[in-house]
Amino acid sequence: MIPPFDFLDYDSEPLGIDEANGRLGEVSGETCKACGRQWLHYFVEYEAFPKSGRWFRGLATAEMLRSLRPETAVALLESLPWYFYGGSYFGTTGRKGSGRVRVDL
Ligand SMILES: [Zn+2]
Repeated sequence: MIPPFDFLDYDSEPLGIDEANGRLGEVSGETCKACGRQWLHYFVEYEAFPKSGRWFRGLATAEMLRSLRPETAVALLESLPWYFYGGSYFGTTGRKGSGRVRVDL
């Protein structure tokens, strides 16, 4: 629950690519190996633009992840009370945030 996060601490399951607005957002479900909490993880970067990489991770239920389509991942993150975000775009290895998820350039 405390950033920075180590991908080795999670079992990751790819849920697809969000192609809205021409982006290629990688959507996955992650389960913490220690406590079993499940996270919705979203990562996107724009190769032509340095420091455009960003990720978001929000606590999700198994049911949320089951019914999720990649193109609804951003709306789900925005509907959560809070999420973690980070990456080169934000210049942080992880902070808490809420509301709008800035996935577009
Ligand atoms: Zn955990």
